[in-house]
Amino acid sequence: MDNALKDFIIPVFIPHAGCPNQCIFCNQNTVTGEKKGIPSQEELHNIIDTFLNYKGKKRGGVQIGFYGGNFLGLETGIIKKLLSVATSYVKNGLAESIRFSTRPDTIDDYKLDIVEKFPVSAIELGVQSMDDAVLAAAKRGHTSSDTINAVSLIKKRNFKTGLQMMIGLPGDDESRSLYTAHRISELSPDFARIYPTVVLAGSPLAVLYKKGKYVPLSLEEGVSITKKAYLVFKENNIKVIRMGLQATEDLREGTSILAGPYHPAFGHLVYSEIFLDNMIDVLQSESVLPEEISIRVHPKSVSKLRGLKNGNIDKIKRLFDIKSVRVVPDPFLPPGGFVID
Ligand code: SF4
Repeated sequence: MDNALKDFIIPVFIPHAGCPNQCIFCNQNTVTGEKKGIPSQEELHNIIDTFLNYKGKKRGGVQIGFYGGNFLGLETGIIKKLLSVATSYVKNGLAESIRFSTRPDTIDDYKLDIVEKFPVSAIELGVQSMDDAVLAAAKRGHTSSDTINAVSLIKKRNFKTGLQMMIGLPGDDESRSLYTAHRISELSPDFARIYPTVVLAGSPLAVLYKKGKYVPLSLEEGVSITKKAYLVFKENNIKVIRMGLQATEDLREGTSILAGPYHPAFGHLVYSEIFLDNMIDVLQSESVLPEEISIRVHPKSVSKLRGLKNGNIDKIKRLFDIKSVRVVPDPFLPPGGFVID
């Protein structure tokens, strides 16, 4: 399982295309690092061909994904054109399937009839929140019932469903975020993504932030709430495929994010905190602790267990007055597990 080849998703960005409005947190040009819009057929071929050239041998099935806009908000003719080009790669064996992200209020049977004629495997919905007051404050222009309807329509067909939530939106807090994670779990998606809200330059949220009317979460708060939402999904056997924004050139340069809980290895921070919590639980349950301990962990999880700059190890040494902690890679343990000897 752990050695399975990772899917290779070719992201095709359609920045802000098909959007009926401007959501408060979004400056889609910034998120995607693209400035153009809908690619022409030739541009789409170029994008896909370029990614295919970079596909390493260790990658699994190729999927072509349309992200960064509201795919089903595009004109029908454009949807068909983009899907036709992507389908040509599936037909000649260079890709396995197509996926796209869209708003919950764009899902209806008419649109699903169209996309069902193409080899689309997964539809991702930008749910963001299941709290209608939070959705209204984010100027999403849809409600939680649109999400519930959309998921039920998608699930009647042969598509996988991915649901994306945000934490730290205006008017949101930890209990509302966890409410959202629970409500999303009840909808039984095939996978989820969790994105902390950051203040992007050029977004309406940046205006509020500069006026002092929006205070973003700190990185610590963002990691902590994301961790709790992740654990809700885990309890419900829902795979979380991403936590935190993907680093693009814009984000790496640090020019586009004005504030908020952004970290290039955000997901890693969340997993590290889960390891820390679990290690503390195990150590607290011991009546007597030796001065030296070893912790066995799967080789792939060593850095997550150690935490950033060895922070987890330093913390448990301090908390439990332990002099030495050896971390020993053990390929026979599952990736999330560890054993303290
Ligand atoms: S969040 Fe999605 S729907 Fe809203 S403006 Fe950005 S791309 Fe458009």
